[in-house]
Amino acid sequence: MPQNIAHNTPEKSHAKGTLYIVSAPSGAGKSSLVTALLEQTRDIKVSVSHTTRAPRPGEEDGVNYNFVTVDQFKELLAEDVFLEYAEVFGNFYGTSRIWLEEQLNAGTDIILEIDWQGAQQVRQLMPESIGIFILPPSKEALQERLDNRGQDSADIIAGRMAQAVSEMSHFDEYHYVIINDRFEVALNELRSVIIAQRQLLNNQKLRQGSLISDLLA
Ligand code: GDP
Ligand code: ADP
Ligand code: 5GP
Repeated sequence: MPQNIAHNTPEKSHAKGTLYIVSAPSGAGKSSLVTALLEQTRDIKVSVSHTTRAPRPGEEDGVNYNFVTVDQFKELLAEDVFLEYAEVFGNFYGTSRIWLEEQLNAGTDIILEIDWQGAQQVRQLMPESIGIFILPPSKEALQERLDNRGQDSADIIAGRMAQAVSEMSHFDEYHYVIINDRFEVALNELRSVIIAQRQLLNNQKLRQGSLISDLLA
């Protein structure tokens, strides 16, 4: 009976929006996929992280990242601004907490593009978050994408390739795994995850509460 299904399904704790954690080895296509997804999907935003990494050509402060010095990052850390933070490839990266909580409470879905260390911290704090891991179709393709992106030096690319296997070994800590071989196929798969998640009973009860009340009155 529908009532039983509803009754037996654990209630989602509080926030109306869903928090997605997207991780991948550098160069797998995570940022390209997330950017394309946002162009086609309403009510979803990506969290802009703070980083101590230098901006790449074309990256804009406040858009790709909030670029800060190590001292500024440490100050923010001391002020407990971050929901999570991690050191990745020798730079600090962190997700600020307040904007994210406001957006989720207002019903907006949020994507965090963060590494596996940050993902573990967020999962502890927000166990209802949904994890998506993006894998490349091969190690060769990953190397090619990092080369073709043309934004990092050979040294930096070598460092990222050296870390790729250890990063990918965390794929099984995520709910969904998407292989980014053909971009449009992977994008469809990513969109399907978000669309399916939105139709879950508990999410529909939160989003469509007044419609459901009207229909059942
Ligand atoms: P890309 O992955 O090649 O685009 O390189 P980036 O320099 O943009 O990101 C480097 C790593 O830091 C990636 O693993 C990101 O997922 C991760 N990262 C970015 N922002 C955050 C964050 O706010 N928190 C954490 N924990 N990791 C982050
Ligand atoms: P990440 O954010 O995971 O580091 P990017 O989104 O910056 O990765 O993608 C790395 C490079 O690979 C970019 O130059 C991007 O245009 C390219 N790329 C992404 N997906 C594909 C794909 N399916 N096929 C070929 N190239 C891709
Ligand atoms: P890039 O320097 O190439 O933009 O990112 C390198 C790595 O840092 C990527 O794996 C990215 O996901 C991760 N990263 C970016 N922002 C954050 C963040 O706020 N927190 C964590 N934990 N990782 C991040």
